[in-house]
Amino acid sequence: MRKTVIATAAVLVAVVFFLLATLPPRPSQLVSTGTDPELIRRTIRGAYHVHTDRSDGAASKSIVAAAAARAGLRFLILTDHGDATGIPDPPAYIDGVLCIDAVEISTSGGHYVALDMPPSPYPLGGAPSAVVEDVTRLGGFGIAAHPDHPKAELAWTDWDAPIAGIEWINADAEWRNEGTLQLPRILFAYLLRPAPAIASVFDRPEKTLKRWDRLNSTRQIVALAAVDAHGGAGEEENHGWGGIGPSYDASFRTLTSRVMLERPLSGDAADDARELLEAIRRGSVYSVVDAISPDVALGLESGGFAVRSQLPEGAKAVLISGGDHARRLEVTAAGAPGDPPVPWVLSNWVGRSTTPRPVAGEPDGQRAPTRLQAGEWRVEKDERSQGQIVAESGVVTLRYELGQAPRQSQFVAASTDLAEKSPFSGLVFRGRAASPMRVSVQLRFPPDDLRWVASVYLEPDERDLFVPVDSMQPAERTGGRMPPSESARSLLFVVDLVNARPSDAGHLVVSDLRVIR
Ligand SMILES: [Zn+2]
Ligand SMILES: [Zn+2]
Repeated sequence: MRKTVIATAAVLVAVVFFLLATLPPRPSQLVSTGTDPELIRRTIRGAYHVHTDRSDGAASKSIVAAAAARAGLRFLILTDHGDATGIPDPPAYIDGVLCIDAVEISTSGGHYVALDMPPSPYPLGGAPSAVVEDVTRLGGFGIAAHPDHPKAELAWTDWDAPIAGIEWINADAEWRNEGTLQLPRILFAYLLRPAPAIASVFDRPEKTLKRWDRLNSTRQIVALAAVDAHGGAGEEENHGWGGIGPSYDASFRTLTSRVMLERPLSGDAADDARELLEAIRRGSVYSVVDAISPDVALGLESGGFAVRSQLPEGAKAVLISGGDHARRLEVTAAGAPGDPPVPWVLSNWVGRSTTPRPVAGEPDGQRAPTRLQAGEWRVEKDERSQGQIVAESGVVTLRYELGQAPRQSQFVAASTDLAEKSPFSGLVFRGRAASPMRVSVQLRFPPDDLRWVASVYLEPDERDLFVPVDSMQPAERTGGRMPPSESARSLLFVVDLVNARPSDAGHLVVSDLRVIR
């Protein structure tokens, strides 16, 4: 008995010693001398991508802001999940921290964060390209979230869509892709050194950095470091969600964004938020893994980002160049976690190419569209929704009223049977609606009635619209490859809960329907 106790104690002591020996180092404190004080005043340290109890975060905005203040942050960009129809709180200083509301939108191809955007008139969702288009139209700045997320349905997938920004690293995704065997070690380390423990799971995200660099050769894409903080132990005010994760406090000491403003903050929340968001849009922002060391300063000149503070021993600034004299900066630190090691500091690109991107969604104009071979128009709907259709001389008007909440699968559609004999590559038509909305254009195929869909934006001013067949995505998971276009049995214009809410009512008008062969 006594022997067993002694043996167990010995093993425990050995385990604890092992765990202590493998603790990640504390963040190094560097005495910075000679850094331009004016530059320090204009460089604002904060956290981008933070959740509160308005979605799946553990604590209220004021508690989150207090944690940010303790960690020495000056701003927070709060990105609660939503469909972008909610009215964001105006920017406000809470505990000296500039809190700016943004939104993280779920698409069918990953999460997209929209900054600096008024509420959308209809719920944003569906295809990633549609959400990117809507965010751009609304004047927002959209960021592809956690491209490396281990859960495939959360990782961003549409690299052809004209995104404005990309998360080069996401602390939450890095945490989740670690092996289960590592978790006890990380947990132990977290109890003693929270921020270094979180950073101990970081790696250099090779794939995402390559993708970013490649995209950046055609247009500027701003890269941001996302803490994706949800809060955790001791902060669980949000019992409904019960998230377990690192605390806000620890997250805010792990990974920060440094935004370089044209002037220091004035204390006026609205003005300062404008200045900060403009700087992010310009790419005047760099990322720092504070858990390695928070003490670093970069400056930005026309030639690019440059280190403006003394680097610790073993740290190395690496200039990465693209075409057109474009460059960005990575600073590596000795002993940085990861394999390959995560950059300690990462800047945005400067001197990018200005090659314009081809505008998507335009017919190539090679072949003139021909009239669509279709039959009578009729309404299809679920039993709780209402719809009426008037089709006269090629003008189809659909009036719809979706059934009341709760959300089921309310929909109203204008549908017609197709009699196309030869393949077509796209549909063209003119469309308008009583108020801004998205309508889903769908082709339905025999024998199982599987549908391929793409949504288009309609507004009171009539627009010329083009739906390339190869942009259509399967509506059902079993979809696979689209059958030949000419075998489509019906064409539908569908209003459903992807971009509308229960009880929504209105009308849309579609005319001059043609196909491109
Ligand atoms: Zn997300
Ligand atoms: Zn998130």
